[in-house]
Amino acid sequence: MYILPKLDYPYDALEPYIDKETMLIHHTKHHKTYLDNLNDTLSQYPDFQMTDAESLLKNSTTLPENIKLKVINNGGGYVNHNLYWKTLSPNSSNPVGMLLKTLESTYGSIDIFKEKFSNAALTLFGSGWGWLVINSNKLEIISTSNQNNPISEGKTPILGIDVWEHAYYLKYQNKRVDYINAWWNIVDWKYVASLFEKHML
Ligand code: MN
Repeated sequence: MYILPKLDYPYDALEPYIDKETMLIHHTKHHKTYLDNLNDTLSQYPDFQMTDAESLLKNSTTLPENIKLKVINNGGGYVNHNLYWKTLSPNSSNPVGMLLKTLESTYGSIDIFKEKFSNAALTLFGSGWGWLVINSNKLEIISTSNQNNPISEGKTPILGIDVWEHAYYLKYQNKRVDYINAWWNIVDWKYVASLFEKHML
């Protein structure tokens, strides 16, 4: 059985950028529902529960047809939110070290990177995620629909913004752009940099 990870900070810690009620509902209802559905889906397949959820998504094409979509949706929802909470912090920092250098060499500047990332998250039609991923040892900005995780495309996400309305609607209503702009203030770049260093060859 997979479990719901505890957050490293209280639900009100990301105020005023993300409000307490949104955080509480997002973690204890939305994230938990993906988790419960994943555990329920895998209950007939005990072998699959021996592996980590990322591996299931990485090898999603080999899953039995009757559970494939459920694992992609709910396993994706589970894994995506695990990352989302970890990459946020009330003690935000700026990109540092090798990640800073690579962002600058790839995009020209941090501001240009942020603009491109924000645009990918903003222009995604419907529900989904904007991502910074490592693809073939290079940084790439992508977006995915629903709860699809880049890992299923062979890419390693190191930063993801949830742009489902449940992530921002209570505070920002239809103004996804305001949520995205606020979200930059709470990105934990130290954690993102640690993932970058772990996964770059
Ligand atoms: Mn969400």
